[in-house]
Amino acid sequence: MGSTVRSGTGRVGDLPASPLTSLRAPLIDTRGRVARKLRVSLTDRCNFACLFCMPSKGKVHWLPSEDLLHFEEVERLVRVLVSLGVRRVRLTGGEPLLRPGVDQLVRQLTRIPGLEEVDMTTNGWSLAEMAAPLRRAGLHGVTVSLHSLRADRFRAIAGVDALSRVLEGIDAACREGLTPVKINSVAIRGYNEDEVIDLVEFARERDVSLRFIEFMPLDGRGTWDPAKVVSGAEILSRIRDRYPLLLRGRGDGDTARRWGFADGRGEVGLITPITEPFCDDCDRVRLTSDGMFLTCLFDRTLNDLRGPMRSGATDEELAERIRTVYGRKPPGVQYLGDLRKTWVKPRAMHAIGG
Ligand code: SAM
Ligand code: SF4
Repeated sequence: MGSTVRSGTGRVGDLPASPLTSLRAPLIDTRGRVARKLRVSLTDRCNFACLFCMPSKGKVHWLPSEDLLHFEEVERLVRVLVSLGVRRVRLTGGEPLLRPGVDQLVRQLTRIPGLEEVDMTTNGWSLAEMAAPLRRAGLHGVTVSLHSLRADRFRAIAGVDALSRVLEGIDAACREGLTPVKINSVAIRGYNEDEVIDLVEFARERDVSLRFIEFMPLDGRGTWDPAKVVSGAEILSRIRDRYPLLLRGRGDGDTARRWGFADGRGEVGLITPITEPFCDDCDRVRLTSDGMFLTCLFDRTLNDLRGPMRSGATDEELAERIRTVYGRKPPGVQYLGDLRKTWVKPRAMHAIGG
């Protein structure tokens, strides 16, 4: 396992000439963006039903289980993508901890030469018992989603009475030494925007990084509306009213612009795909749980890798297919027109992988 290094600017002129250099030429799109990070969804299923993610009760259609990639298939596609320059993997879903044996998959992935970091995003339900096995398997960091610190609100947002379990999960992740531990919070107008400071204080007490994500129109219920988006600028001003902040900036290819607190404790990041998108140096690609390759969260084309893989495609053929698809990576959300009128999502967030 190599040491954790930054991924460069995500542009072709800055490819690192290191022993980790890929076996194949890296993935570069027509805008010169280089793919370095991969989000792998392990399942579209979830035991929560967050209102900004899942369809309403009774309207969820899970992917057939035979369509889900087996762990060996996930590992194979990750290997091919690492040979094409991917350096970091984030496991997500749906809820990734619903897949039995996920720690075993982590162990397999962390052994892939050239892959520098494997992290996970989880709703935290199973983290209290899984933090130790995941750490032993070599998982680096964990990001836990936490949208409210009030039990009734948590339930209203996530559809499950799970606040205390999720908090135990966060504490277990810190105790076990998963690094970094981060918290993701989606602020939605009328639901939780008044909890910004409470969430900041919670994160500072634990010295973990807190990220606020703007609500994206990827919700299964189709209720997204610009009026429900609490902008990064508004969140920043709420925090600044209480705490002096020091700008740390946004690393190349990163989604979050980050600030530190004047006393050095904790960190806050704003992920602003709606009001201040960051598509021009995007270095991310995605693999859905049923083996579809996506070059952008806002791409409408699901490119099947499972079919060719199960029909006997070689690694070289899979790499070629990935390269062709990546070359067509769309410019990104900031170049889309009116999201409400002109863009239709292919799937809800839980079935893409956030
Ligand atoms: N179940 C895990 C969890 O909740 O962390 C992983 C999957 S979830 C889809 C990944 C991240 O996407 C979570 O932090 C979640 O809050 C965020 N998310 C889901 N729907 C979103 C939306 N419509 N807009 C912005 N973020 C969203
Ligand atoms: Fe499940 Fe995560 Fe979507 Fe919430 S955000 S419904 S926890 S996949």
